[in-house]
Amino acid sequence: MTDGTRTFADAREWARTGTKLLLDAVAGLDEAGFCAPSVLPEWTRGHLAAHVAANADALCNLVHWAATGEETPMYASPEERAAGIAKGAAMSAEELRSWVTASAQALDEGWDRLTDEQWQHEVVTAQGRTVPATELPWMRAREVCIHAVDFGTGAGFADLPAGFLTALCDEVVTKRAAAPGPALTLRAPATGAAWDLPGDGEAALVTGELHDIAAYLTGRSAGPLTADGTPAPALGAWL
Ligand code: ZN
Repeated sequence: MTDGTRTFADAREWARTGTKLLLDAVAGLDEAGFCAPSVLPEWTRGHLAAHVAANADALCNLVHWAATGEETPMYASPEERAAGIAKGAAMSAEELRSWVTASAQALDEGWDRLTDEQWQHEVVTAQGRTVPATELPWMRAREVCIHAVDFGTGAGFADLPAGFLTALCDEVVTKRAAAPGPALTLRAPATGAAWDLPGDGEAALVTGELHDIAAYLTGRSAGPLTADGTPAPALGAWL
């Protein structure tokens, strides 16, 4: 079970790693800590915690779908998704931590119960993509790994597995290639990773550590300097 550079086993491992980072991020937060801003504009850490917990609940709906064939979408509506995030502002630190922990555990247990055949069943994501259930661990890995960093409590992209960062860059480059934006030549010489992103103008050469390039491509940093010492071109929002 592979998709490009990542395997199903990789994705489950990364989901586990990211979940651990996520639980570490919320472990030490008190009420004031959850009220503080996250790295994401307009979201407190409470909003972010609620979003990640609601994401696990939503993925559990897809696990149920894969297991039973009963069509249970991630979110009943966009309003339901927004309500889940807003709820975070009103919850206590203890409630948020328990929700994050219990939802992550329920999702993992749900995965453990799926048979090989059920993993192949198709489900529809919140973005409307039809995918086999084997895609769910990657979707979760992306959420927990990146949002663990977004809490701003210490974890950075450099703490994420290199394989995860490579698969993430693969995906973001593919997505960005389909939208307007600057042409980029991206190189991470230490790992040999390289991407050529087609786009407007002559391609700017952006070279750096793999984690710096991943943070740049996902809109989490302004990025490493280009080869001629100028700032990397600004990128539009991702996701
Ligand atoms: Zn998210």
